[in-house]
Amino acid sequence: MSNNNNVLTLSAPLSGPVLALGNVPDEVFASGAMGDGLAIDPLNDCLQAPCDGVIIHVARTGHALTIRADNGAEVLMHVGIDTVELNGEGFALLVKEGARVSEGQPLVQFDLDRIARQCKSLVSLIILTNSERFELQPIASKTVKVGEALMRIAVRTSASVQTAVDNSAAEVAACVRITHRGGLHARPAALIRKTAQGFSSQSQLHFGDKSAACDSLIGLMGLGIGEGDEVRVSCRGKDCEAALQALVAALSVAVHEEHHAPVVATTPRWANTEANVLQGVCAAPGLVCGPLFRLAGIELPEDTGTHNVDEQLQRLDAALEQVRGEIRNTLDHARRRKNVEEEEIFAAHLALLEDPALLDAATAAIEQGSAATHAWRDAIQAQCAVLLALGKPLFAERANDLRDLQQRVLRALLGEAWHFELPAGAIVSAHELTPSDLLQLSAQRAAGICMAEGGATSHVAILARGKGLPCLVALGSEVLDVPQGQRVVLDAANGRLELAPSDARHAEVHQIRETQKLRRQQQQAQAQQPAHTTDGVSIEVAANVASSAEAQVAFDNGADGVGLLRTEFLFVDRRTAPDEQEQRQAYQAVLDAMGDKSVIIRTIDVGGDKQLDYLPLPVEANPVLGLRGIRMAQVRPELLDQQLRALLQVSPLARCRILLPMVSEVDELLQIRQRLDELCVELELTQRPELGVMIEVPAAALMAEQLARHADFLSIGTNDLSQYTLAMDRDHAGLAARVDALHPALLRLIAQTCIGAAKHGRWVGVCGALASDPLATPVLVGLGVSELSVSPPQIGEIKDRVRHLDAAQCRQLSLELLDLSSAKAVRQACQHHWPLS
Ligand code: PEP
Ligand code: MG
Repeated sequence: MSNNNNVLTLSAPLSGPVLALGNVPDEVFASGAMGDGLAIDPLNDCLQAPCDGVIIHVARTGHALTIRADNGAEVLMHVGIDTVELNGEGFALLVKEGARVSEGQPLVQFDLDRIARQCKSLVSLIILTNSERFELQPIASKTVKVGEALMRIAVRTSASVQTAVDNSAAEVAACVRITHRGGLHARPAALIRKTAQGFSSQSQLHFGDKSAACDSLIGLMGLGIGEGDEVRVSCRGKDCEAALQALVAALSVAVHEEHHAPVVATTPRWANTEANVLQGVCAAPGLVCGPLFRLAGIELPEDTGTHNVDEQLQRLDAALEQVRGEIRNTLDHARRRKNVEEEEIFAAHLALLEDPALLDAATAAIEQGSAATHAWRDAIQAQCAVLLALGKPLFAERANDLRDLQQRVLRALLGEAWHFELPAGAIVSAHELTPSDLLQLSAQRAAGICMAEGGATSHVAILARGKGLPCLVALGSEVLDVPQGQRVVLDAANGRLELAPSDARHAEVHQIRETQKLRRQQQQAQAQQPAHTTDGVSIEVAANVASSAEAQVAFDNGADGVGLLRTEFLFVDRRTAPDEQEQRQAYQAVLDAMGDKSVIIRTIDVGGDKQLDYLPLPVEANPVLGLRGIRMAQVRPELLDQQLRALLQVSPLARCRILLPMVSEVDELLQIRQRLDELCVELELTQRPELGVMIEVPAAALMAEQLARHADFLSIGTNDLSQYTLAMDRDHAGLAARVDALHPALLRLIAQTCIGAAKHGRWVGVCGALASDPLATPVLVGLGVSELSVSPPQIGEIKDRVRHLDAAQCRQLSLELLDLSSAKAVRQACQHHWPLS
């Protein structure tokens, strides 16, 4: 195409109908956030260069690339919408970053059918990413053929380009972990850029030893930031504080992690010197016995060093493709079973397998004469060393994911089937197992897992908990010396691996397991019946849920109602807030799943450390002490208003109770009560739902009587109440064993809450995790709690516990517990008075 220095004509990189940006089915592209441009709905399957230039960025997954034309214009070409999710499948890149290309040169070949089937849209974008310096004039308006003139790009003459940098002001910075799915690819990068452009400050993102200006899309993408990476963002200028807040909000996406909470053994490893017992950390509870099966990794012999380079490259390619195929199968399987955790873990593995740093290192080693096996092993080991050198547990766990891929690809290269004969009911020991090992072992019916290394928050631990497979980690290298086939007992909840159990102990464990199984069957059979103590006090056993699907499970398990619906599920992991209609439908679905039982719906509890993409809140020095829970209504009242309106429209309203989180003053309750009354009038309702208050900060427990005067019920959130009473972060791994809601201080607050509520004839429930702890049931009943909201699988067990209690005796004994010295002493006393077998 004819160009002069100022004007460049771009030819169509694809054939097909041309669309204006506003008609693209993607909010970010359509808004122009990434720059001005056009879209083509492609009819062909090969993207060609629209002009001569240099390829300055290639997406890791091959679905997008950017060319810099000779006049400096930077043009991003993005094939399809949401195609990053294909993770490179169906795309063949024909050029490399840094390559010089000529107009019309093929750049990417893609599988049109696959994208059409698996992605939101085939519509492909041609975007001028530095439109502040260039102007765009469309030429083609309807349909173009590849190579025909598409648009003209001219240098802006009105030099309105803002380059003034305010160096005078201070610089502020913060670190943030990227949770955008797939990392900082084009669309999230565009959001960051758009956010940065809203401020006069200059903002930069730093990752590793690289930095990029936040208003440069290419720069941001070029940092190669992946999901889970931690980056630093810095802002300099007059409005640097505000810019930083907004950027941190745009960079972080809230993740709901409750189900991932690690189970931490109460006894640390070094505290136990009992003979023939190894002490570790519990990653998944359970008691089992069986023969030990030692699982070792692959050890390669010395590399002889004379190899045909092409042959070795082909072998590596074939092995990688085989493993990718296997992982894709695992992914499909996980998706079909809606197992999100498994899906996320293996999607990350697939992305790691395509990591250019890894592939380039292996290729380079082969080119220098290494065997494919050794090249692959060394490339992984080098990456692991980098991750481990960072000294952070999260990165160390990622190293384990890399080792997983090392083993899998080595197996594929060596033609070894991943197969071993696991003796029936074996307890598998290993240095550190990988996620795919764990899936295999679970499929082969391993009874338990013990590892020398590993952490309770690792991917393996999450998978083990999900599979109900007892698992101990961090046992130390002694576990690897235990002979193959030796009979052991794994008591995961207590962090113990017993190496020489007697016949009697062995028989006892069998007996305990049999009894547990039988008891569980009996409890399930009775779960649908209401629970009364032996002296006739009725205790409602409801469920904590976070979706209508979970409500269905709770109903099937015999829940007497929903004691806590955490509504955050509707608000997190999305780019825009749910509207009133969507909320109403979601709440109605939970009501519908619960038959004629009542449902307690808690208003949104975000803020603090749970941030929403579309709700930038100030960065807080102490997030858990900041604008969270009901306090958020101070800054965003319309959000709560909308939720209340949605709640008031469910039917029958009599089955819906509203619960307010993080209340610390009576006035907060009064204001919302008044607003609820106004909304009822607006909606012409004659009936008003019950309104309850969560007791999860000490102030609320101390003010329970005053709150109960105006509330219909109180529900104690022991998770936060422990955190705020004991001044211990509820997610602090090192304090996990001490954040125990059976602490006498907590019991005193619970007692005070029940006394205060009783003065006004209000009932008290517990919806924190303490309600699911059977050791605590007698104490809670004794202190006057009449509703326990528990995790759905435990409904039968807690109802059974209630049925064996005498409420009068519970009242008398639990008062004595208030005078004990520690949570440990309370636990011992509970075990003594109301033993758990
Ligand atoms: C609690 O704090 O005990 C509670 C139930 O609320 P969440 O765990 O959602 O903070
Ligand atoms: Mg809470």
